[in-house]
Amino acid sequence: MSPFTLPWGLYVHIPFCQARCTYCDFNTVTGMGEGDHIRYVEALVREWSGEEIPDGPMVSIFFGGGTPSLIDPQLLAQVIQAVRARVPFAAEMEITVETNPGTVTDDKLRILREAGVNRLSIGAQARQNAHLIALNRIHDVAAIDDTVRMARAAGFANISLDAIYGLPGQTMAEWQETVEGLLRLGPQHLSLYALIVEAGTPLQQQLERGAIRLPHDDVTAEMADWAEQRLTDAGLLPYEISNYAQPGYESRHNRLYWQLEPYLALGAGAHAYVEGRRWWNMRGVRRYMEMVEDGRDPMDNEEKLSRDEEMREYLWLGLRQRRGVVRMEFQDRFGRDPVVVFEPAFAALNEQSLVTVSPAAIQLTRRGRDVANVVARALVDASPSEAHS
Ligand code: SF4
Repeated sequence: MSPFTLPWGLYVHIPFCQARCTYCDFNTVTGMGEGDHIRYVEALVREWSGEEIPDGPMVSIFFGGGTPSLIDPQLLAQVIQAVRARVPFAAEMEITVETNPGTVTDDKLRILREAGVNRLSIGAQARQNAHLIALNRIHDVAAIDDTVRMARAAGFANISLDAIYGLPGQTMAEWQETVEGLLRLGPQHLSLYALIVEAGTPLQQQLERGAIRLPHDDVTAEMADWAEQRLTDAGLLPYEISNYAQPGYESRHNRLYWQLEPYLALGAGAHAYVEGRRWWNMRGVRRYMEMVEDGRDPMDNEEKLSRDEEMREYLWLGLRQRRGVVRMEFQDRFGRDPVVVFEPAFAALNEQSLVTVSPAAIQLTRRGRDVANVVARALVDASPSEAHS
């Protein structure tokens, strides 16, 4: 498919949070009130009005954050209306709102549903109050259950839940309790992330002070393995390294990222990608609002991927998916067979049993998924073979 007619989506960044979680390094702000929320959304709508629209069908909008569910849902509805006024939505349009337990009511969820939101991504993270408190989450376990119950009552048929493993002091039994508890809520989709200690976060400081200890890497790997088996048995199939879904409920928006399809982006620090060009906005929320209000482009910077970089990125993102990189799709997009272009790299990865190469696709092995960073590094360092282009 030509890049000009690819499906595309829109990421909308809502940076407001009630409190900062210890592990978080996202572009978020706390302490801003309703007046700032209104002003920010006006800036989003204004930024949108100047966006150049890709040619393909629009298939998704993703409100991420931050905590989009914190603000008045009518504000999110305004953004959806503004988008819809310029672009027809595809029949299978997916509109997701990241939601934190403790920030929604029956009314808020009903308004989101009426506005066209058809998918909620709920940050559950753990099912032990002690862990939620330690992470500085704003909710307890009961609020997770309440949020899902209210979402179902409001008509949401597509619910995703997030959880984190490898938490400080977390045992295998606790992780199993978390997964079992989330499964009882009947989600269509689960995202399970290994905890990452990001530089500059309170979590990193706690670790450096010796105030907390992380589980051993072997335990964390065991947690991932156990969850994969348990979820597969429950009919939630792994379709990406961290993501599981009932068949037909794979995230359309995430697929845009993983298949290097185009996405526009609105809001402070938001990243967009179209046809090998990536650009991103100013991170500062006030700075972003001031620039848009002054009629200036809030873009902070941009990069143009070379053809080789684009191929490498496509391969790496594709390998994260369980379907792997479909050789024919790569060939359609880049005019070359990936196995031929990166022959030495794939031969070495195959030799180490990190990838399998079949006539149809290249896929990570179980071992390859465990050391996905090693595979990524090998592809980043690989030189494409020009002789076969
Ligand atoms: S709610 Fe999400 S975005 Fe906000 S601080 Fe916590 S992890 Fe970060």
